[in-house]
Amino acid sequence: MSLRTRFAPSPTGFLHIGGARTALFCHLHARSHGGTTVLRIEDTDRQRSSQEAVDAILEGMRWMGLDPDEGPFFQSANHTRHLDEAHRLLNEGGAYRCTCTVEELDNMRETQRQNGIKPRYDGRCRDRDPRLSDTGPSVIRFKTPKTGEVFWNDLIQGEIRFDNNELDDLVLVRSDNSPTYNLAVVVDDHDMAINLVLRGEDHISNTPRQIHLLEALGYQRPQYAHMPLLHGADGAKLSKRHGAVSVLQYRLDGFLPAAVNNYLVRLGWSHGDQEIFTMEELERLFDVTRLGRSASIFNPEKLLWLNGQHIRAAKPANLAPELSWHLDRLGLPNPGRERLEAMIPYFQERSKTMVEMSEKCRFLLVDDLHPYDAVGIRRHYTPDLRLPLENLIKSLKNIKDSSWEINEIQTVFNKILDDHQLKMGKLAQPVRLALTGTTVSPGIHETLVLLGKDKSILRLEGGLDLFERLVGEK
Ligand code: GLU
Repeated sequence: MSLRTRFAPSPTGFLHIGGARTALFCHLHARSHGGTTVLRIEDTDRQRSSQEAVDAILEGMRWMGLDPDEGPFFQSANHTRHLDEAHRLLNEGGAYRCTCTVEELDNMRETQRQNGIKPRYDGRCRDRDPRLSDTGPSVIRFKTPKTGEVFWNDLIQGEIRFDNNELDDLVLVRSDNSPTYNLAVVVDDHDMAINLVLRGEDHISNTPRQIHLLEALGYQRPQYAHMPLLHGADGAKLSKRHGAVSVLQYRLDGFLPAAVNNYLVRLGWSHGDQEIFTMEELERLFDVTRLGRSASIFNPEKLLWLNGQHIRAAKPANLAPELSWHLDRLGLPNPGRERLEAMIPYFQERSKTMVEMSEKCRFLLVDDLHPYDAVGIRRHYTPDLRLPLENLIKSLKNIKDSSWEINEIQTVFNKILDDHQLKMGKLAQPVRLALTGTTVSPGIHETLVLLGKDKSILRLEGGLDLFERLVGEK
């Protein structure tokens, strides 16, 4: 049977970078093995689940390019089925009703603690006559085998073994008739024909319970792969202060999904010494069985570097939608896809994020450049530049509209530099300030081409006036 794996987030918060990594690994492993991905929203905890969280998870996955092949399915929709399976087990003798009160359980644990025993349910209702315990509030507990051991060959961690006597009889159905996580997961994984359970290693302790349960229910056992968790530079489990924010925050900060994906994969997985991977490559090459076992350290600087590399390598057509999204969000005029694609190559080299790119191309989009970099103007404009700049404007005006391109513009510049015995830097910075309001932009000739003749002349004339007012009269 072909591979079927699932991503099963609980919608109790946004999709953070750790959860996104699980979703990514499911997606990539399924792709490279010709498998199918299923998205199951585990919303059985009604109090902590929210529609906002569901929406944020779906949006995060969509942005990362991880739309599932099947789903989203909502676990709460399978409520009756979960209960039916628990009752089947009850009737078959694989589970029992436990009528212990909270008080009784507390006392039991306290006594165990005092006797130096690990606190856990001691199975006191297990062998009671089922007819006696049918009245009053009760939970349904699973009859965990008391002896022997359970083990599985984890695709990432290798063989993992648990002694059965370390496991207590877990609750399958609570006294309010709600199914527990372990029951719901086992039944759903079976019903959805999942044959690879890929999840964080924080779930390892659930696996022996789930294996016992699925065997008692007569289900086929899936394969398991428990991936190491992400840690911050200080070695602690990744939290908000390390950057474990919503993946959508990374979008807001100008990261590309391809870079985020590439970065997350490289944490713990490698392919020779290749650093940069496209999504297509990862979908071909990735294999969870080649993940390392140790925790990976999340390094925001490396992510930023990779993002710059991806921006540089991307096709303008692929960057345009993301740039467009940022421009709209930042309230900058959006000139449309075609124009964006033409502009982007001039900004790819020097932008580490899409936010940076949006800021860098701002001068091409707005009509009013205010506020100009006044410090830059004072540093780079001196009244002796007035004449060369006036001559430059005059010569640029003489270029025919149809010849407004790099070579012509370069020739004009060279002539002015020559006539006035100036170095390029001396002339370029005031020109740049007039054209962009700032001291950084693509090459000056390119900037003129990008702006077009009319706008360039208008800005140079306006800039010169402004410079004179700021500096000239002093
Ligand atoms: N819903 C669980 C979680 O968000 C995942 C369950 C699983 O993968 O088995 O941690």
